[in-house]
Amino acid sequence: EKFISGLKNNILLILLVVSMLLGIALGAGLRYVEPKFDNRQIMYLRFPGDLLMNMLKMLILPLIVSSLISGLSSLDTRASGRMGLRAVIYYLTTTLVAVILGIILTISIQPGSRGGPPTASGTSKVVHPADTFLDLLRQAFPSNLVEACFQKPVTEQVLREQTTTLGPSTTELGTTDVITTVSSSFNDTNGTTSQPIDVPEKIYDPKVTTAAGMNVLGLVVFSIFFGVVIGRMGERGKPLVDFFNSLSEATMVLIHLVIWYSPIGILFLVAAKVVEMEDPEKTFEQLMYYFITVMTGLIIHGFITLPMLYLVIVRRNPYKYIYGVVQALVTALGTSSSSATLPVTMRCLEDNNGVDSRITKFVAPVGATINMDGTALYEAVAVLFIGQVRGFDLGIGEIITVSITATAAAIGAAGVPQAGLVTMVIVLTAVGFPTDDVTLVLAIDWLLDRFRTMVNVLGDAIGAGIVYHLSQKELDNMDRQDVELQKPKS
Ligand code: ASP
Repeated sequence: EKFISGLKNNILLILLVVSMLLGIALGAGLRYVEPKFDNRQIMYLRFPGDLLMNMLKMLILPLIVSSLISGLSSLDTRASGRMGLRAVIYYLTTTLVAVILGIILTISIQPGSRGGPPTASGTSKVVHPADTFLDLLRQAFPSNLVEACFQKPVTEQVLREQTTTLGPSTTELGTTDVITTVSSSFNDTNGTTSQPIDVPEKIYDPKVTTAAGMNVLGLVVFSIFFGVVIGRMGERGKPLVDFFNSLSEATMVLIHLVIWYSPIGILFLVAAKVVEMEDPEKTFEQLMYYFITVMTGLIIHGFITLPMLYLVIVRRNPYKYIYGVVQALVTALGTSSSSATLPVTMRCLEDNNGVDSRITKFVAPVGATINMDGTALYEAVAVLFIGQVRGFDLGIGEIITVSITATAAAIGAAGVPQAGLVTMVIVLTAVGFPTDDVTLVLAIDWLLDRFRTMVNVLGDAIGAGIVYHLSQKELDNMDRQDVELQKPKS
């Protein structure tokens, strides 16, 4: 039976990789036949992919709430406290290490000092860094839970304010609209005109459907506390515990169905992106070096630093562990969203890597929300790059500011496409750069987004493995102490 399930997982993995390649081939083929597609055609091509995004995002709410509540209610308070502490220490150290790596690489490669002068102008707008930290806390404690399910995080509203001066119009639909707006203004400065269409553009903009529009951090914080409380209530809490256990099981079954659909969705997501992509000739030499710097950092962090950490702590083959979550990594590459990938990550961790579901239920949703090594690294590189382009030399004090704020910005970024670009405002303002400068790195952000999301997901997966290993004693104790609280079969 194990063999069959192993085979099944490999079939999925093969399907995913094949669909990714087919997507690239299809997109390239279509581009070859017809160099310019309009938004409506791209929307049709992307449609099966949009359905996948919707399905994955639909599952985020029940998944996060039920996993966290059911996971935490089954742990005793001391055990969950310790696991939480381990997870948070892991998140902070790895994120900081990623930022430092990014800084070292940017200083040595100097991507911003290459090639011709950039074309960008911007006005500085004062956003006090302290306000952004307060926003992060406000997000963590939403005033209305129902609203938190569809509220846009506060940090994103900061950029929306910025972009009103940049783009021709602002819409009310979420992060990606903000990015679309910045995007269009970037195109304008390059002389490219967008296709006129006869319907309101926002309806047929293929990017609109990728907005998550949920205050995930607030829901995570509430669910953690709620789970701990009902776990401690004993008999009186039992109906709620049972309810969330069964909700969590049901959600996992749904996830299984969606995962089998994912190769089709990813094929069309990738194909549409390839069709929509701007011609690479337009990018500057500097941007190439910037891209290389970020990618080098991501590769070193994902394939050397994190695996070594796993090897040192767990003393098992880290690459075998990574192989177990490749399916999640491919999904991250296809969706550029760690929240949307969370269902796949959890299944991979439990089914392929044998991580206890009490750990995955707790650690994976929190990780997908706050642990973003790739985003942190990218934000540090991007801000230093912008500094180099503008000819500002950052002193050691400013570099320390960048490290701290990039870490905070990565924590604050929602796990949705290009959220990191939005929270970069925090880092830019902290060192006094004009926030409009995000336009300097915009052209290739969609691509970097995919790779940094992969590293974000990888960091979450390795974190779950490390916390699982370190928490073995507590889990064994709990198994012994209370048979009733043993892991529910999923
Ligand atoms: N797209 C990334 C994620 O979901 C966040 C980012 O924009 O860096 O993890």
